[in-house]
Amino acid sequence: MNTLPRILVTGGAGFIGSHYVRTLLGPQGNPCAAVTVLDKLTYAGHLANLHTVRDDPRYSFVHGDICDAPLVDALVAEHDQIVHFAAESHVDRSIAEAADFIRTNVSGTQTLLAAALRHGLETFVHISTDEVYGSIAAGSWPETHPVAPNSPYAAAKASSDLIALAHHRTHHLDVRVTRCSNNYGPHQFPEKIIPLFVTRLLNGGRVPLYGDGGNIRDWLHVDDHVRGIELVRTRGRAGEIYNIGGGTELTNRELTGLLLEACGADWSRADFVEDRKGHDRRYSVDCGKLTAELGYRPRKDFAEGLAETVAWYREHRAWWEPLLRPAVGADRPLALTT
Ligand code: NAD
Repeated sequence: MNTLPRILVTGGAGFIGSHYVRTLLGPQGNPCAAVTVLDKLTYAGHLANLHTVRDDPRYSFVHGDICDAPLVDALVAEHDQIVHFAAESHVDRSIAEAADFIRTNVSGTQTLLAAALRHGLETFVHISTDEVYGSIAAGSWPETHPVAPNSPYAAAKASSDLIALAHHRTHHLDVRVTRCSNNYGPHQFPEKIIPLFVTRLLNGGRVPLYGDGGNIRDWLHVDDHVRGIELVRTRGRAGEIYNIGGGTELTNRELTGLLLEACGADWSRADFVEDRKGHDRRYSVDCGKLTAELGYRPRKDFAEGLAETVAWYREHRAWWEPLLRPAVGADRPLALTT
């Protein structure tokens, strides 16, 4: 490539997408000519997440839907690469009603891929999740492990992965898929376990823990995730899947203990509630491929990252308080994991 890429970022107003955009346009970002965010601004998308980049001449924002084929076609025609974050991302919402998950995660991805093909896009980075592999009692999944998703969210993501990879196999489109573990960090919507629990505790409330609290997740700081994505975008190989993990496995019970402590609370503020339907017991990705090929290693110490995240929520009430009413009104948690 001789010129700097023009990058279309879908879902760039959400938690991870906005961190990606802020990083890319920040002092440590890889060079690029333009970054356009395409985002529908669902309940999970917020322009406030992009406030710090809004005056950057390389940045522009388009309010729109990835399922809007004419809009997507016009945008893709003006870009060289896509980094595709846009999705319905919340497992519990997918259990309550899956239609939007199929529409956005599956049809929306297909709309982007079709436009990418028409316009001879250089690179399409598809952001996926470890949840597509299912649940694993021991050991870790390599990228060659077949997908066996359990929740409607994971099934929709797995479907989009397969459609994306089929565009490489069939049409030789340069598609690269990343599958990461549970992200944490600032700007995460307060429906996922860390921001949900922290905001409730900071408000003097109680926290609901699913089942026996023994479900295990690997935690990845959003900074490390974004670094992994950039390695894949700039140096990864077409048609390949790359797992991205954080290296910190915790049961939800252990995580809850840490969050209670960080917020100056004790177990009297926690309730064990009826388990999520079909709740996956454990996720664990093997990141050996990304390490061996591209030198990836998570850098953020979990204790440090968690303390910074809790401090961020403590200091940014103006960001999350307006979001609480629709998300966290009921006794039942909307989600404990992604
Ligand atoms: P998020 O819910 O915070 O943000 C999703 C963004 O997509 C929002 O800005 C929303 O407005 C936008 N969006 C939704 N539907 C859209 C549509 N039809 N058209 C355009 N924009 C639309 O999600 P997140 O946590 O930042 O996750 C980003 C990606 O990473 C998702 O693909 C998700 O599956 C994946 N992922 C997330 C995690 C995690 O821990 N959060 C873990 C693994 C993978």
